Amino acid sequence: MPNYHQAHQLAGQQRRFRWFMSLAACFFAVIFLALGTWVVRGAEDDQLLRSARTYAKAIDSFRAFYTDVIVTPLVGHPWVEVTEHYRDQPGSIPIPATMTLDLAEFMSQRDETIDTRLLSDFPFPQRADRLLTEFDQQALAMMREAGRDEYYRFEMQAGGKALIFATPIRMQPTCTACHNNHPDSPRRDWQVGDVRGIQVVTLPVSQSVLAKSDRFLYLIVFVFLTFVAALLALFFMDTRVRNIVDLLFDRNRELEAATKELKQQQNALDQHAIVSMTDTDGNITYTNQHFRSISGYSDAELIGRNHRIINSGFHPPEMFEQLWQTITSGGVWHGEIKNINKAGDDYWVKATIMPLYDAAGQIDRFISIRTDITQQKQLEQDLKSSNEELYALNATLDEARQAAEAASEAKSAFLANMSHEIRTPMTGIIGMTELALDTELTATQRGYLGVVKSSADALLSILNDILDFSKIDAGKLAISPVETDLKALLTQCLKPAAVLARKKGVSLVLELPESVPDYACVDPVRLRQVLVNICDNAIKFTAEGRVKVSIGWQTGTGDGKGILCLHVYDQGIGIPESQQAHIFDAFSQADSSTTRQFGGTGLGLAITSRLVELMQGRIGLESSVGQGSHFWVELPCEQGRFNQTLYPDQEKTLWLLDTVAENMRTVSSFLIRLGYTCECFTDPDALLSQSKSAFSEPRSYLIQHHLNAEYTGIQVIEQLLAYGVLPKDCMLISDASSSELQQQLQSLQIDRLLTHPPAPAEIQQMLQKQPDNSIELVCHSEGAGLQILLVEDNKVNQRLISTLLQKRHHQVTLAEHGKQAIELCQQHIFDLVLMDMQMPVMGGVEATIKIRELEAQQGRAVMPIYAMTANVLPADKEACFKAGMNGHLGKPVKLTELDAVLETVKRFAVT
Ligand code: ADP
Repeated sequence: MPNYHQAHQLAGQQRRFRWFMSLAACFFAVIFLALGTWVVRGAEDDQLLRSARTYAKAIDSFRAFYTDVIVTPLVGHPWVEVTEHYRDQPGSIPIPATMTLDLAEFMSQRDETIDTRLLSDFPFPQRADRLLTEFDQQALAMMREAGRDEYYRFEMQAGGKALIFATPIRMQPTCTACHNNHPDSPRRDWQVGDVRGIQVVTLPVSQSVLAKSDRFLYLIVFVFLTFVAALLALFFMDTRVRNIVDLLFDRNRELEAATKELKQQQNALDQHAIVSMTDTDGNITYTNQHFRSISGYSDAELIGRNHRIINSGFHPPEMFEQLWQTITSGGVWHGEIKNINKAGDDYWVKATIMPLYDAAGQIDRFISIRTDITQQKQLEQDLKSSNEELYALNATLDEARQAAEAASEAKSAFLANMSHEIRTPMTGIIGMTELALDTELTATQRGYLGVVKSSADALLSILNDILDFSKIDAGKLAISPVETDLKALLTQCLKPAAVLARKKGVSLVLELPESVPDYACVDPVRLRQVLVNICDNAIKFTAEGRVKVSIGWQTGTGDGKGILCLHVYDQGIGIPESQQAHIFDAFSQADSSTTRQFGGTGLGLAITSRLVELMQGRIGLESSVGQGSHFWVELPCEQGRFNQTLYPDQEKTLWLLDTVAENMRTVSSFLIRLGYTCECFTDPDALLSQSKSAFSEPRSYLIQHHLNAEYTGIQVIEQLLAYGVLPKDCMLISDASSSELQQQLQSLQIDRLLTHPPAPAEIQQMLQKQPDNSIELVCHSEGAGLQILLVEDNKVNQRLISTLLQKRHHQVTLAEHGKQAIELCQQHIFDLVLMDMQMPVMGGVEATIKIRELEAQQGRAVMPIYAMTANVLPADKEACFKAGMNGHLGKPVKLTELDAVLETVKRFAVT
């Protein structure tokens, strides 16, 4: 990073500067100290030299004084002798030389630090033993040869540094006379002025006044302290400077970053926007590249020109007045402007114009930032014209839609009508055929009628399919989920399939585990349709073996939501892989030959898959030819709820017998939830042998009728009764309740028959049923028949339904229309009213409303009223329930459905 590099460089420079300054300070301090010492030493030496000179001069002066003033007058004096032996001769005085020598000796003794010597290279014999030093010889030579008056040298001696200072002793007139005449004189040619010898004074440097004092030390201390203070000041200053530099550097960095940021922003702005600036008069002072390219002018053509240069004249002057007013009063103006470029072409911009201020806070410029919206404007324009076209088209389409809707409604009405019109005669055909089949017939007649019945059934199913498909196709089919007793619904759906399967020698197996909730939010009608269609196909395409229906429940997020899973496995012909992909398409059959062999329209699975789709579910299959198919459906359900009722533990144990383990597991799970203890058997012999030895224990038996080749359920019950088991403790589950079976049960005094697969509530009802000597349920005695009012205008239907009911030992009263029905209801209370919907004089819905009012007025028990009609659309059913009916039976009437209604009513019969 450049900034880091700069900082690093600066820190290095600072370090080097510090070192340099410190070294420079040391260097100058050393120089200063050396100079100081040198100057001080020089002054000291001078001082010492002056002292030595004075000293030598004093001795010289004294010697001159002594020679001239004392000795010279006494020369030749009778009593005073001048001799060098003056110490041995009283009354004599020393000659000047002796006196000087002794004086020097005397002075040296007085002050040990000062050494004064007088010496000569021509000594008298008594001093001939004195040796001359190198200095002495040098001094004598210098004085004689160079004529010097003094000679000195600083020398290092044992006691330290010392000044050796020599002055010449010159021959005076008195001296020459004496020396040249003296017998012991070593030389006799002395001239006045000759250097006889030298006087040497040695002064130690320590004698120096300056050295002795502390001043020099003070000076050094002062210099040192000054140096330290200077150094500290230097460091302090350096730290301050460094801080300031750091601060400056930081500021500089911030400034650089801000500048960079600003540049980037400006660059971004320049890349995107058209920017210009004007002075307060509107004269252009700046334009960016975008501005220049869009306007077609160069900078030279723009700078200084008024902004009006790009005014297209499209906008009214008021708009610019308002703009000017906004920005001159400090506001920001936003808007869309149409400008004109140099070539005379228009372009649109979205502009933001605002003032800029000088340092004094006065508006000094205006900046305008714009984006090119020419294309957008063009698009808007295009859109506007397209919209106008679209509006026109819409109007046409609307008319077409209305026409289509009217056509669709007409089609729906036509379909409903057709359905009703076809169903009514179909009721007659199917019903009468069934009645005829119930009479004694020749084999040929039975054959013919059988064909009529199956053809009519097929026609009806095709009719139903086409009706459903056209409803789904027209989007008319709505799903209406309600909370439904799942187990009751599913078992109910499968009962007719079980009968169908049994007829083909195929067994229908139901696996409905405990994990499936008791209640879920589903559309019961459509769920039934899906399951029945898949099951019917499975049975239809399976020649032998079994069809297994497995119900599952996948728990969702824990809020009760879940997925209801339906699986139908068959062991039938299977579907080739190439055709599996199209199996859910309308009018598609895996193999066109199947139509001939099995019949069908190819609409069933198309309807089923669309219903599943409408219920937000999924459908799929796996199949292999010759092995069978597995169809699965997953339906998301809003709510899954278990029955919270806790049933008390029952005293009786239940022994179940079924050779199909899945069926037995399903029934036993129902029973366990009802509080029963179950013992399950799959082998009839095992059950028989165990119950033979313990028949007296309180226990009930629930026996499946269709067991194996050896046993039927009836046979097992016969054995049980033979062991002493009571008939009231035996219950039979059968796929179908044929009259033969009913007779067999009657003969065994067994009054408990359940149709396969039984619902939990059915089993419970059967178990709680009080023993009855008369046989009820399906086959009622004459006296136990219901009083039924049949409201029906169609003669064929009147005859058909009446016969069906009478054959079931019920008493039928006929009413031609609603009004007649009301009159009859005023006089009688019926166990059941079967009400057609479309009738002359008064329809079924109106009649029901009136009957309900009548009951309310008279405070009578409410009669069960069931619609029995060819009007089978959901809207028709809704109208029936709204009017107060209890149920709805579609025409042509299915016997199983009619029997179920009769059974329900019988159970709650009021008479
Ligand atoms: P259809 O009324 O003809 O049965 P579907 O739509 O119900 O119409 O079925 C379409 C075709 O799918 C059938 O004709 C048959 O070829 C095939 N199919 C449906 N279910 C099965 C099945 N369980 N086993 C074999 N083929 C089946």
